[in-house]
Amino acid sequence: MSFLPVLRSLEKYILSLCDVNSPNYLNSKDEFAMRNWFYDDGAQMRAFFVLVLVLIFIQGCTTGEKSPEVVVTKKPVNKMETDDYYHVCPKMKVSNAPKIDNNRRIKKYQPYINVNGVTLALVPLRGGCLSSGFGPRNGGWHKGIDFYQRPADMVYAAADGVILEREFYKTYGNMIVIDHGEGVYTCYAHLKNFERNTRIGSKVKAGAALGIMGNTSTIRIPVNLHYGLLTGDYNNPKRAYGLKAHDPFSFVGR
Ligand SMILES: [Zn+2]
Repeated sequence: MSFLPVLRSLEKYILSLCDVNSPNYLNSKDEFAMRNWFYDDGAQMRAFFVLVLVLIFIQGCTTGEKSPEVVVTKKPVNKMETDDYYHVCPKMKVSNAPKIDNNRRIKKYQPYINVNGVTLALVPLRGGCLSSGFGPRNGGWHKGIDFYQRPADMVYAAADGVILEREFYKTYGNMIVIDHGEGVYTCYAHLKNFERNTRIGSKVKAGAALGIMGNTSTIRIPVNLHYGLLTGDYNNPKRAYGLKAHDPFSFVGR
């Protein structure tokens, strides 16, 4: 006997199984053809065909159901990945702290700020918390914002740019200064180390590893990151120290 009518009736039967609302399709003629086929010689060969059809049936039924799509949000590669909210450090006296809610979440927070058309990560870390704000502190002026993180982890470039400085300074310890163009600069102080590809003149991409958060300085300080946002003309005798420091949080919502 020919395989064709058997396959057709099997196909009809299988398709009818996919639709739970319709009665199974099998008339007596089809049933007869199938019985003959199953009890005939060469049953093993046919068993293989049945297996293939069963697999097709399973596939047909499962693809018929629409499973919810998994949406993976991917931020643009030229920007740092940051969280959608950020905390002020708990159990710490945080000077000049921005306003927070009951969960210590910073009320006016956004992952990126725009400074002179340059998009910068507001937090150049993954994780951590804000341990000091910008402004008057201990009789001086804190020219950046500080972050605390345990265990201390990598510090990243806030935006694309060129490394201008990579030196040890008395107060700032191991510090990197990046030129982002448009008169916008960022600095990262107290680093434990300098990562590769952070030589002076190196081009860095947003999110490039700069060094591990540390406590390098000539004075004793806790492990933390001092992050500075600077604008102005770098070609001045004091270089980065001659630039104007800004509170990065003051650019939120602008
Ligand atoms: Zn600081």
